[in-house]
Amino acid sequence: MNVAVLSIGDELLGGRITDTNAAFLSREIVANGGCVLERATVADDRLAIGEAVARLSSGADVLMSTGGLGPTNDDLTRWAAADLIDGGEVIDDDEALADARAWCAAAGLPASEAREMVAKRPQSASFLSNDQGTAPGLRFQLGGCEVWMLPGPPIEMQSMFERHVAPALRSGIGNTALPVEVLAAGLTEVQAADLLGSRLDRRCRPQLGIRAGRGLVRVTVQDPDGTCTQTALLNSAKEVRSVLEPWSLPDGCNSLPEAVGAALRHAEATCATAESCSGGGLGAALTEVSGSSGWYVGGWVTYSNEMKAAQLGVPVGLLDPGGPGTVSSEVVEAMATGARERSAADIAVSISGVAGPDGGTAEKPVGTAWIGLSDERGTAARRIRAPGDRQRVRAATIEAALQWIRWRLCGVDGGLPWECTT
Ligand code: AMP
Ligand code: MG
Repeated sequence: MNVAVLSIGDELLGGRITDTNAAFLSREIVANGGCVLERATVADDRLAIGEAVARLSSGADVLMSTGGLGPTNDDLTRWAAADLIDGGEVIDDDEALADARAWCAAAGLPASEAREMVAKRPQSASFLSNDQGTAPGLRFQLGGCEVWMLPGPPIEMQSMFERHVAPALRSGIGNTALPVEVLAAGLTEVQAADLLGSRLDRRCRPQLGIRAGRGLVRVTVQDPDGTCTQTALLNSAKEVRSVLEPWSLPDGCNSLPEAVGAALRHAEATCATAESCSGGGLGAALTEVSGSSGWYVGGWVTYSNEMKAAQLGVPVGLLDPGGPGTVSSEVVEAMATGARERSAADIAVSISGVAGPDGGTAEKPVGTAWIGLSDERGTAARRIRAPGDRQRVRAATIEAALQWIRWRLCGVDGGLPWECTT
């Protein structure tokens, strides 16, 4: 099923807001078995909207638009639709009008022409209810194309997509196999591609696609020409997961923190954190996962030397000018041990680094971070040297720390991202 996506709004063309709706729709259309043919953006202009809808609908089975359905006079999508299917005429939808008046009464606002605008629709279009806002969506047929028009606010659009559009897409695509994604963390895209070898040949069926970003390598197993069964895709995904061992995340884990959580749960182990340059980001990542209270007991953000000594018992001599310094193996080991003793967690992980842009030295340039880990087997420290600006360095330290927890629990002697081995 071929789908075109149209984003409507002056603010999108002017770059004042980022078009997150089109990205969401693309992702969901593909996940529901469709194929996105084209994405376009037009201004809040009745003629331009009409032209774009006519052009895109002529080459697609389904057209999805977002934006321009609100009550103000720059919201022209309903008029453009009316031009295409009903000679420019709209009617008042009795039910929607009653809803709009009831909404005003409940909000203690007077009924007005603008508020009642959202009850107008082309006669040949049907309304799609909006459970998150006041402007309904529109659905109509244009030639061979099914057109769905949703409002711009992302929360409203997403809820309407899930309730109205996704079920229709799934029923319309019959037996098409849905793509499956395999995730891996802790290796580069090139390493993953080398391991997968000729399986990445674009002519293979199922077809594999690979990309990397935000610390994960993603391999999509897909069926571009509708010749595979769902079972074939699932089997191929299983094979990819095993080829990418030990980096591949378990089936059902969608992020590195989820994989760490699954490993902690499986080991029936608890974890605590002691952070300096990452400012609590490691704790935040661990608690992204629902159910994390089952394995994460808590942590410290000890930014100053005084806090490191007072809260975690890091020996003052290590922090003094004559000692190894805040960013050192000795300090992260002391932080991890202190955190483990004080929290009674099974594993404690610590981070101390130079996130930059200031504070780097020849010996410890910006991007240098030490990570400590303490568990019943002992305490150790590893050093990374991450590239990029402050935000990237901090994200890299968190990723490396998560990866180390995972390796430790899985019994894998694997490297960390950006680890310095010399
Ligand atoms: P509209 O329905 O065109 O009045 O849009 C209302 C609001 O929804 C806009 O002011 C934006 O904040 C948001 N919005 C509209 N289109 C998009 C889009 N493509 N991506 C993200 N937000 C959007
Ligand atoms: Mg708009």
